[in-house]
Amino acid sequence: MLVFVLNAGSSSLKYQLINAQTSEVKASGLVERIGIDGILKHEVGENKKLTFEVSIPTHKEAIELVLKVLTDKETKVIDSIEEIEAIGHRVVHGGEYFKKSTLVNDEVIAKIEELIPLAPLHNPANILGMKICRELMPNVPNVATFDTAFHQTMTEENFLYAVPYSDYTEYHLRKYGFHGTSHYYVSNEAVKLLNKKDSKIIVCHLGNGSSVCAVRDGKSISTSMGLTPLEGLIMGTRSGDIDAGVIPYLMEKKGLTSNQILDYLNKKSGILGISGISSDLREVIKASNDGDRRSKIAIEMLCNRIKKYLCSYAGLMGGVDAICFTAGIGENSDLIREKVCNGLDFMGIEMNIEENKIRKSGIREVQKDTSKTKIFIIPTNEELVIAKDTYNLTKSN
Ligand code: ADP
Repeated sequence: MLVFVLNAGSSSLKYQLINAQTSEVKASGLVERIGIDGILKHEVGENKKLTFEVSIPTHKEAIELVLKVLTDKETKVIDSIEEIEAIGHRVVHGGEYFKKSTLVNDEVIAKIEELIPLAPLHNPANILGMKICRELMPNVPNVATFDTAFHQTMTEENFLYAVPYSDYTEYHLRKYGFHGTSHYYVSNEAVKLLNKKDSKIIVCHLGNGSSVCAVRDGKSISTSMGLTPLEGLIMGTRSGDIDAGVIPYLMEKKGLTSNQILDYLNKKSGILGISGISSDLREVIKASNDGDRRSKIAIEMLCNRIKKYLCSYAGLMGGVDAICFTAGIGENSDLIREKVCNGLDFMGIEMNIEENKIRKSGIREVQKDTSKTKIFIIPTNEELVIAKDTYNLTKSN
């Protein structure tokens, strides 16, 4: 079954056309600068890369353009859009309603709309993607896969904030966690490798946005992101954990509104804020190697924060069978992986430093033979999870 997987952002749109049974990616791409000017980067296989710079005023034109490129004489990978049998959408916030992927209907869209206050930047674009697909391909079923769903197995003691309980019942104030599709995929791959019942796994998803997740027996029991994707690790431009007292203090000192302080913590902080160089870790590592003091501190802070979560989750689970590194930083930066694992021998975490330095694609193990804990590098694949869920929910229709 050919599934069109869509990840609609506020001014961008990522997509893949996947054969859900064979996992083959027929084409993939990214539309950026929707509503500004417009650029489509489209890929077929390893070698064929196409770029189209055309006016893309809205998400509707963006999806129409992608469908045109997929079927056009010159560029086609399918003869007609009729070959698309189902569409899978990444949705950021599913609140407490959605514990797994679901077929999209009016009621589901209404619930995702209800959750907009919890994800004001993301859910509106996700809904738009679903509405446009239903309009352009009315006979094709749509499925929503939620970033929050995998974490719905967390229990109250791990998802509540220590504030008056009534604010949970009245305002849904709690930790939800994000990157769930990635944490699910990576921990599931790790479970297969461990081939062990009662597994204790910690997944470090380290990209522009980053989170750690403790996965016990295949279920998320705790994760570092919270009500919003701002909590937890230090990220490209996000502060992660911070004393809540910082917020009124800075609002008063700098005369900031609530939107401005959110912008400060989400877009001006993290690696960018500390280093003053970039949110792109590659540039910050380079600056640190060239002697830049603040870049060096940013890297130390990033790794210390990951290490703090790693140790606390190992404590929460009473041990850890495998640590998994994934996403842009986790898959590519031997430096960050090494620093995170450094000094954890006392917990049975012993990295093979030489093995960790070797660049290879695919799944790898980089622990020493004597290490009690496995250290895996597992490339994430959220699109494949969405395609498979979409297939499973629509194949009988
Ligand atoms: P997103 O969260 O946007 O999906 P990615 O998972 O693609 O992000 O991760 C992007 C991050 O990965 C950037 O900070 C980038 O600098 C970092 N990155 C990619 N390759 C390397 C590398 N070789 N060394 C260090 N950081 C890297």
